[in-house]
Amino acid sequence: MIGEPLAVDLTNTRPLCPDGVHDLLENAADAGVWLAAQPDRIGVLGRGEANRLTERDVADLHDIRDAVNAALEPVRHGRRPPASALRALNDAQRAAPAIQEARWTRGAVTAAPVRSGTPGQRLAARFAEAAAELLSDPAVTTIRECYSEPCVMLFLPTNPRRRWCSAEICGNRARVARYYQRHKQR
Ligand SMILES: [Zn+2]
Repeated sequence: MIGEPLAVDLTNTRPLCPDGVHDLLENAADAGVWLAAQPDRIGVLGRGEANRLTERDVADLHDIRDAVNAALEPVRHGRRPPASALRALNDAQRAAPAIQEARWTRGAVTAAPVRSGTPGQRLAARFAEAAAELLSDPAVTTIRECYSEPCVMLFLPTNPRRRWCSAEICGNRARVARYYQRHKQR
């Protein structure tokens, strides 16, 4: 599940599957696979770095996910987030600030944001930045949890009628359930 605002993608890394909650960032190998799915959007890792994460980097990812969750849950319901969660987001950005690095490339200067720090610090800063943008966006209160029963995925509906995290999986499951419900009543 990717393609929601980056901070929502991060909170969606603990999907509820038929056999329980899974963690897509459980260890360095899993986190590497998840990060490699949208490298340009995340944009803070060098080539192959997603495959060389340390336990410390994974712990940094878990910490920032906890902070994003702690802030997003109240804010999406219009409530005040814990000060500790906002502090964690701000501290993460401060630990690996981005500069617009100017480079001469093929006859012209290009500029792209470059962060300092370890891979875990850079990732935490990137997700914290994405979270700050999301939390300050008035649309944050429209974020919904998937309507399909045990599913806990969040999404930002661009279409107000959207009810499922994924039309293919949860939307289909709901349609099948409705079909059997009707069938049973006859
Ligand atoms: Zn769902």
